[in-house]
Amino acid sequence: MKGLVYKSTGSWYSVKSDNGDVFNCKIKGKFRLENIDSTNPVVVGDFVEFIVEDHDQQEIGIIQKVYERRNYILRRSVNLSKQTHILASNIDFLLLIITLKNPITTTSFIDRFLVSAEAYSIKTLLIFNKCDIYNEKDEVLLNSLISIYDDIGYDTIKISANTGYGIKELEKRLSNKTIMLGGHSGVGKTSIINAIHGSLNLKVADISDQHSQGRHTTTYAELHDLDNNIKLIDTPGIKGFGLVNYEKNEITNFFPEFLKVSSKCKFNNCIHMNEPKCFVKQKVESGEISNSRYESYIQIINDDNLKHR
Ligand code: GDP
Ligand code: ZN
Repeated sequence: MKGLVYKSTGSWYSVKSDNGDVFNCKIKGKFRLENIDSTNPVVVGDFVEFIVEDHDQQEIGIIQKVYERRNYILRRSVNLSKQTHILASNIDFLLLIITLKNPITTTSFIDRFLVSAEAYSIKTLLIFNKCDIYNEKDEVLLNSLISIYDDIGYDTIKISANTGYGIKELEKRLSNKTIMLGGHSGVGKTSIINAIHGSLNLKVADISDQHSQGRHTTTYAELHDLDNNIKLIDTPGIKGFGLVNYEKNEITNFFPEFLKVSSKCKFNNCIHMNEPKCFVKQKVESGEISNSRYESYIQIINDDNLKHR
Protein backbone atom coordinates (compact mmCIF):
# COMPACT_ATOMS: atom_id res chain seq x y z
CA MET A 1 0.00 0.00 0.00
CA LYS A 2 1.14 3.54 -0.63
CA GLY A 3 0.91 6.17 2.06
CA LEU A 4 2.13 9.51 3.33
CA VAL A 5 3.99 9.93 6.61
CA TYR A 6 2.14 12.39 8.86
CA LYS A 7 4.04 11.99 12.06
CA SER A 8 7.08 10.26 13.41
CA THR A 9 7.97 9.60 17.01
CA GLY A 10 11.29 7.89 16.81
CA SER A 11 10.56 4.33 15.80
CA TRP A 12 6.83 4.67 15.04
CA TYR A 13 5.34 6.39 12.05
CA SER A 14 1.82 7.53 11.44
CA VAL A 15 1.06 6.83 7.79
CA LYS A 16 -2.09 7.78 5.92
CA SER A 17 -2.98 5.55 3.00
CA ASP A 18 -4.43 6.85 -0.24
CA ASN A 19 -7.96 6.07 0.90
CA GLY A 20 -7.52 8.01 4.13
CA ASP A 21 -6.90 5.25 6.67
CA VAL A 22 -4.16 5.91 9.20
CA PHE A 23 -1.75 3.12 10.13
CA ASN A 24 0.85 2.82 12.84
CA CYS A 25 3.97 1.78 11.02
CA LYS A 26 7.44 0.57 11.80
CA ILE A 27 10.43 -0.14 9.66
CA LYS A 28 11.97 -3.54 9.57
CA GLY A 29 15.71 -3.71 9.73
CA LYS A 30 17.70 -0.79 8.53
CA PHE A 31 17.70 0.85 5.21
CA ARG A 32 19.70 3.62 3.83
CA LEU A 33 18.66 6.15 1.24
CA GLU A 34 20.19 8.48 -1.27
CA ASN A 35 23.57 8.27 0.42
CA ILE A 36 22.39 10.53 3.20
CA ASP A 37 23.88 9.60 6.51
CA SER A 38 20.75 10.51 8.36
CA THR A 39 19.67 9.57 11.84
CA ASN A 40 16.09 9.13 10.64
CA PRO A 41 15.45 7.05 7.55
CA VAL A 42 11.75 7.90 7.30
CA VAL A 43 10.51 11.45 7.74
CA VAL A 44 7.31 13.46 7.70
CA GLY A 45 6.34 14.18 4.10
CA ASP A 46 7.76 10.91 2.79
CA PHE A 47 5.69 8.76 0.49
CA VAL A 48 6.18 5.16 1.53
CA GLU A 49 5.18 1.68 0.50
CA PHE A 50 4.03 -0.55 3.35
CA ILE A 51 2.31 -3.83 4.11
CA VAL A 52 -0.10 -4.46 6.96
CA GLU A 53 0.55 -7.27 9.43
CA ASP A 54 -1.61 -8.55 12.25
CA HIS A 55 0.07 -8.53 15.64
CA ASP A 56 -2.15 -9.76 18.45
CA GLN A 57 -5.23 -8.54 16.61
CA GLN A 58 -3.60 -5.18 16.04
CA GLU A 59 -2.81 -3.97 12.60
CA ILE A 60 0.72 -2.78 12.20
CA GLY A 61 2.21 -1.39 9.04
CA ILE A 62 5.68 -2.35 7.95
CA ILE A 63 7.36 0.26 5.80
CA GLN A 64 9.32 -1.37 3.03
CA LYS A 65 10.27 1.45 0.78
CA VAL A 66 10.56 5.23 0.76
CA TYR A 67 9.84 6.87 -2.56
CA GLU A 68 12.41 9.28 -3.85
CA ARG A 69 12.18 12.68 -2.16
CA ARG A 70 11.66 15.74 -4.34
CA ASN A 71 13.39 17.77 -1.67
CA TYR A 72 14.02 17.78 2.05
CA ILE A 73 15.30 20.07 4.73
CA LEU A 74 17.86 19.26 7.32
CA ARG A 75 18.07 20.30 10.88
CA ARG A 76 21.27 22.13 11.42
CA SER A 77 23.73 19.79 12.97
CA VAL A 78 24.52 20.90 16.49
CA ASN A 79 27.77 19.06 17.03
CA LEU A 80 29.03 19.30 13.45
CA SER A 81 29.06 15.54 13.17
CA LYS A 82 28.41 14.14 9.74
CA GLN A 83 25.10 12.69 10.81
CA THR A 84 22.13 14.74 9.86
CA HIS A 85 18.55 14.86 10.91
CA ILE A 86 16.04 15.36 8.15
CA LEU A 87 13.16 17.49 9.31
CA ALA A 88 10.68 16.99 6.52
CA SER A 89 10.45 16.17 2.84
CA ASN A 90 8.46 16.84 -0.32
CA ILE A 91 7.61 20.44 0.46
CA ASP A 92 5.91 22.46 -2.29
CA PHE A 93 6.12 25.86 -0.72
CA LEU A 94 7.87 27.56 2.12
CA LEU A 95 5.72 30.44 3.25
CA LEU A 96 7.79 33.32 4.48
CA ILE A 97 5.56 35.63 6.47
CA ILE A 98 6.80 39.21 6.36
CA THR A 99 5.62 42.33 8.17
CA LEU A 100 6.93 45.86 7.70
CA LYS A 101 6.21 46.70 11.31
CA ASN A 102 5.06 45.01 14.51
CA PRO A 103 7.53 43.32 14.08
CA ILE A 104 9.95 44.53 11.40
CA THR A 105 11.21 41.92 8.97
CA THR A 106 14.53 43.00 7.50
CA THR A 107 15.64 42.33 3.93
CA SER A 108 18.66 40.59 5.39
CA PHE A 109 16.38 38.11 7.14
CA ILE A 110 14.26 37.62 4.02
CA ASP A 111 17.29 37.01 1.84
CA ARG A 112 18.89 34.52 4.20
CA PHE A 113 15.66 32.62 4.28
CA LEU A 114 15.43 32.62 0.49
CA VAL A 115 19.02 31.46 0.11
CA SER A 116 18.30 28.48 2.33
CA ALA A 117 15.13 27.68 0.41
CA GLU A 118 17.06 27.87 -2.87
CA ALA A 119 19.73 25.60 -1.43
CA TYR A 120 17.04 23.05 -0.65
CA SER A 121 15.32 23.56 -4.04
CA ILE A 122 12.06 24.59 -2.42
CA LYS A 123 9.88 27.37 -3.76
CA THR A 124 9.07 30.23 -1.43
CA LEU A 125 5.90 32.28 -1.35
CA LEU A 126 6.51 35.66 0.26
CA ILE A 127 3.45 36.63 2.24
CA PHE A 128 3.20 40.25 3.28
CA ASN A 129 0.87 40.22 6.25
CA LYS A 130 -0.81 42.90 8.35
CA CYS A 131 -1.68 44.99 5.30
CA ASP A 132 -4.47 46.53 7.36
CA ILE A 133 -2.05 48.54 9.52
CA TYR A 134 0.11 50.19 6.90
CA ASN A 135 -0.24 53.92 6.23
CA GLU A 136 0.45 55.56 2.89
CA LYS A 137 4.17 55.83 3.55
CA ASP A 138 4.38 52.19 4.60
CA GLU A 139 2.44 51.23 1.51
CA VAL A 140 5.04 52.85 -0.76
CA LEU A 141 7.80 51.01 1.05
CA LEU A 142 5.84 47.78 0.91
CA ASN A 143 5.29 48.00 -2.82
CA SER A 144 8.93 48.70 -3.56
CA LEU A 145 9.92 45.76 -1.39
CA ILE A 146 7.46 43.51 -3.17
CA SER A 147 8.68 44.61 -6.58
CA ILE A 148 12.25 43.59 -5.68
CA TYR A 149 11.09 40.00 -5.18
CA ASP A 150 8.51 40.02 -7.97
CA ASP A 151 11.23 41.05 -10.42
CA ILE A 152 13.45 38.15 -9.39
CA GLY A 153 10.58 35.76 -9.98
CA TYR A 154 9.41 34.98 -6.47
CA ASP A 155 5.73 34.55 -5.75
CA THR A 156 4.38 37.30 -3.53
CA ILE A 157 1.02 38.10 -2.00
CA LYS A 158 -0.41 40.84 0.23
CA ILE A 159 -2.80 39.74 2.93
CA SER A 160 -4.28 40.57 6.28
CA ALA A 161 -5.06 37.65 8.54
CA ASN A 162 -7.16 40.00 10.66
CA THR A 163 -9.45 41.44 8.00
CA GLY A 164 -9.33 38.44 5.65
CA TYR A 165 -7.92 40.52 2.81
CA GLY A 166 -6.13 38.22 0.32
CA ILE A 167 -6.94 35.04 2.24
CA LYS A 168 -9.14 33.54 -0.48
CA GLU A 169 -6.43 34.15 -3.05
CA LEU A 170 -3.85 32.62 -0.70
CA GLU A 171 -6.00 29.52 -0.23
CA LYS A 172 -6.30 29.19 -3.98
CA ARG A 173 -2.56 29.30 -4.46
CA LEU A 174 -1.89 26.78 -1.72
CA SER A 175 -4.60 24.25 -2.49
CA ASN A 176 -3.24 20.74 -2.98
CA LYS A 177 0.17 21.87 -1.75
CA THR A 178 2.38 20.84 1.13
CA ILE A 179 3.63 23.91 2.96
CA MET A 180 5.85 25.02 5.81
CA LEU A 181 5.80 28.38 7.55
CA GLY A 182 8.63 30.66 8.49
CA GLY A 183 9.04 34.17 9.78
CA HIS A 184 9.67 36.06 12.97
CA SER A 185 7.58 35.50 16.01
CA GLY A 186 4.54 37.78 15.94
CA VAL A 187 4.23 38.18 12.17
CA GLY A 188 0.97 36.24 12.16
CA LYS A 189 1.76 32.60 11.34
CA THR A 190 -0.83 31.20 13.72
CA SER A 191 -3.38 33.79 12.63
CA ILE A 192 -2.89 32.88 8.97
CA ILE A 193 -3.38 29.17 9.63
CA ASN A 194 -6.48 29.95 11.63
CA ALA A 195 -7.75 32.18 8.83
CA ILE A 196 -7.32 29.31 6.39
CA HIS A 197 -8.59 26.64 8.75
CA GLY A 198 -10.43 27.89 11.79
CA SER A 199 -10.70 24.68 13.75
CA LEU A 200 -7.11 23.55 13.88
CA ASN A 201 -6.14 25.38 17.05
CA LEU A 202 -2.51 24.91 16.36
CA LYS A 203 0.49 26.51 17.92
CA VAL A 204 2.46 26.95 14.75
CA ALA A 205 6.15 26.55 15.23
CA ASP A 206 8.67 28.81 13.66
CA ILE A 207 11.16 27.18 11.37
CA SER A 208 13.40 30.19 11.49
CA ASP A 209 13.19 30.80 15.19
CA GLN A 210 16.53 32.30 16.13
CA HIS A 211 16.13 31.50 19.81
CA SER A 212 16.00 27.78 19.42
CA GLN A 213 19.25 27.67 17.52
CA GLY A 214 21.62 25.17 19.02
CA ARG A 215 19.11 23.82 21.48
CA HIS A 216 19.28 20.09 21.17
CA THR A 217 15.69 19.03 21.18
CA THR A 218 14.43 15.73 19.90
CA THR A 219 11.22 17.04 18.50
CA TYR A 220 9.64 15.88 15.30
CA ALA A 221 7.71 17.47 12.54
CA GLU A 222 4.04 16.76 12.05
CA LEU A 223 1.77 17.09 9.06
CA HIS A 224 -1.73 18.58 9.36
CA ASP A 225 -4.56 18.62 6.84
CA LEU A 226 -6.04 22.08 6.30
CA ASP A 227 -8.96 23.09 4.09
CA ASN A 228 -8.58 22.89 0.30
CA ASN A 229 -6.25 19.90 0.63
CA ILE A 230 -3.48 22.10 1.95
CA LYS A 231 -0.99 20.13 4.01
CA LEU A 232 0.91 22.00 6.68
CA ILE A 233 4.16 20.65 8.06
CA ASP A 234 4.70 21.94 11.57
CA THR A 235 8.17 21.70 13.06
CA PRO A 236 8.39 22.49 16.74
CA GLY A 237 11.12 24.83 17.84
CA ILE A 238 13.82 24.03 15.39
CA LYS A 239 16.23 26.22 13.58
CA GLY A 240 15.79 24.38 10.35
CA PHE A 241 18.12 26.26 8.13
CA GLY A 242 21.83 26.49 8.05
CA LEU A 243 24.26 27.29 5.29
CA VAL A 244 27.33 25.78 6.89
CA ASN A 245 27.93 23.31 4.14
CA TYR A 246 28.41 25.78 1.35
CA GLU A 247 31.48 27.30 -0.13
CA LYS A 248 31.69 31.03 -0.67
CA ASN A 249 31.54 30.70 -4.43
CA GLU A 250 28.39 28.57 -4.26
CA ILE A 251 26.25 31.25 -2.65
CA THR A 252 25.78 33.08 -5.93
CA ASN A 253 23.80 30.05 -7.14
CA PHE A 254 21.17 30.79 -4.53
CA PHE A 255 20.58 34.34 -5.77
CA PRO A 256 18.63 33.66 -8.97
CA GLU A 257 19.10 37.15 -10.38
CA PHE A 258 22.88 36.90 -9.87
CA LEU A 259 23.01 33.47 -11.40
CA LYS A 260 21.27 34.78 -14.50
CA VAL A 261 24.11 37.19 -15.28
CA SER A 262 27.17 35.80 -13.50
CA SER A 263 28.35 33.89 -16.56
CA LYS A 264 29.25 37.29 -17.99
CA CYS A 265 31.65 38.09 -15.16
CA LYS A 266 35.26 38.10 -16.35
CA PHE A 267 36.28 35.34 -13.96
CA ASN A 268 34.19 32.21 -13.89
CA ASN A 269 34.77 31.78 -10.16
CA CYS A 270 33.86 35.42 -9.48
CA ILE A 271 32.27 35.98 -6.09
CA HIS A 272 31.26 39.52 -7.07
CA MET A 273 33.27 41.33 -4.44
CA ASN A 274 36.53 42.88 -5.61
CA GLU A 275 37.05 41.20 -8.94
CA PRO A 276 37.41 43.42 -12.01
CA LYS A 277 34.78 43.34 -14.75
CA CYS A 278 32.17 41.80 -12.49
CA PHE A 279 28.87 41.82 -14.32
CA VAL A 280 26.83 41.34 -11.16
CA LYS A 281 28.31 44.51 -9.67
CA GLN A 282 27.61 46.37 -12.89
CA LYS A 283 23.98 45.31 -12.60
CA VAL A 284 23.89 46.54 -9.00
CA GLU A 285 25.29 49.90 -10.10
CA SER A 286 22.78 50.22 -12.91
CA GLY A 287 20.00 49.37 -10.48
CA GLU A 288 18.90 46.19 -12.23
CA ILE A 289 19.98 44.17 -9.20
CA SER A 290 18.72 45.61 -5.95
CA ASN A 291 21.17 47.11 -3.49
CA SER A 292 19.61 45.38 -0.54
CA ARG A 293 19.96 42.00 -2.20
CA TYR A 294 23.62 42.67 -2.92
CA GLU A 295 24.17 43.77 0.69
CA SER A 296 22.56 40.58 1.95
CA TYR A 297 24.78 38.60 -0.34
CA ILE A 298 27.91 40.29 0.99
CA GLN A 299 26.76 39.66 4.55
CA ILE A 300 26.34 35.97 3.86
CA ILE A 301 29.68 35.74 2.07
CA ASN A 302 31.36 37.34 5.07
CA ASP A 303 29.66 34.98 7.47
CA ASP A 304 32.31 33.02 9.31
CA ASN A 305 30.20 29.91 9.25
CA LEU A 306 30.86 29.45 5.58
CA LYS A 307 33.66 27.20 4.55
CA HIS A 308 36.75 28.77 3.10
CA ARG A 309 38.43 27.58 -0.01
P1 GDP B 1 2.99 34.18 15.14
O1 GDP B 1 3.86 34.40 16.33
O2 GDP B 1 3.74 34.39 13.88
O3 GDP B 1 2.22 32.91 15.16
O4 GDP B 1 1.91 35.39 15.17
P2 GDP B 1 0.41 35.39 15.68
O5 GDP B 1 -0.49 34.76 14.70
O6 GDP B 1 0.38 34.88 17.07
O7 GDP B 1 0.09 36.95 15.67
C1 GDP B 1 0.81 37.86 16.50
C2 GDP B 1 -0.07 39.09 16.71
O8 GDP B 1 -0.28 39.76 15.49
C3 GDP B 1 -1.45 38.76 17.27
O9 GDP B 1 -1.79 39.73 18.21
C4 GDP B 1 -2.33 38.83 16.04
O10 GDP B 1 -3.66 39.19 16.36
C5 GDP B 1 -1.65 39.93 15.24
N1 GDP B 1 -1.93 39.80 13.80
C6 GDP B 1 -1.79 38.71 13.04
N2 GDP B 1 -2.14 38.96 11.75
C7 GDP B 1 -2.51 40.26 11.72
C8 GDP B 1 -2.99 41.13 10.69
O11 GDP B 1 -3.15 40.77 9.52
N3 GDP B 1 -3.24 42.43 11.05
C9 GDP B 1 -3.07 42.88 12.32
N4 GDP B 1 -3.33 44.14 12.56
N5 GDP B 1 -2.63 42.08 13.31
C10 GDP B 1 -2.36 40.79 13.02
ZN1 ZN C 1 31.02 38.78 -10.59
